Amino acid sequence: MNKILWFDIFSQSRLTIGRQCRLSCLECPIAEACGILSEPEDFAKLIQAGKTDEIIPPGKIIHLIGGDPLRYPDLPILLHTLWTYSKWVRLWTPGVISYEQWDVISPYISEVYLYCPAVTPSTYRAITGWDRFEELRDVIVFMKESKTNLTLQFPVTLESVQWLPEVHEFAKSMGTRLLIHYNHLLPFHKDTIAYIERYRLVPDVDVIAFRNRKRGFCDIPFAEHWAGWEKISFIAQELRNRLNRIFPI
Ligand code: SF4
Repeated sequence: MNKILWFDIFSQSRLTIGRQCRLSCLECPIAEACGILSEPEDFAKLIQAGKTDEIIPPGKIIHLIGGDPLRYPDLPILLHTLWTYSKWVRLWTPGVISYEQWDVISPYISEVYLYCPAVTPSTYRAITGWDRFEELRDVIVFMKESKTNLTLQFPVTLESVQWLPEVHEFAKSMGTRLLIHYNHLLPFHKDTIAYIERYRLVPDVDVIAFRNRKRGFCDIPFAEHWAGWEKISFIAQELRNRLNRIFPI
């Protein structure tokens, strides 16, 4: 597993590898965008056809997003290919994974961002349709024990902002970092924005604000076309988060 260094963050791309997901979140932006959760082109076949260069994005850090990338059948092949190209992988996932699968793919993954929209079983079930919050907790424990570089990621919405303290407490109790992200085009009160932004000063918490209306759930601040201002803003805020870790106020 390669460690992402601070200067790597200036060179990032994303790769969407599948629309399938075992969860069924009410406001899934992927289902909304595509109508169905479908499978994309077959990366393994492209690799075998010698077209690897066409599918490997530029940049040092590759964000793997879906659906849930863990549902992608050729994930081990793809990860190995990225590894041979010296790419550092950030995996965005809701974390429905078997330990056997994790053993195979974990050497090729530098960081995991685990979707955690709620920390009480009933709310988690209501949001995701997945009645297995305790399984998610087990995955967190397992990943921590296997020394995974793990961050829980929590989308802040008009409804979920009330759960921010308990989500933070949960992340602390599990010994993980927490990434909170919000769409600042939502009609938050300015005091609420200030409240969210104050979390930038909290140890082991990162904050990303973005402005795309469609995205912002399990694979966070990526716009439909992650480029230009949206990408620059992401990198700038990541840099700010990293500096906060080095020089806490
Ligand atoms: S975890 Fe993500 S991809 Fe899966 S249903 Fe929820 S929002 Fe959609």
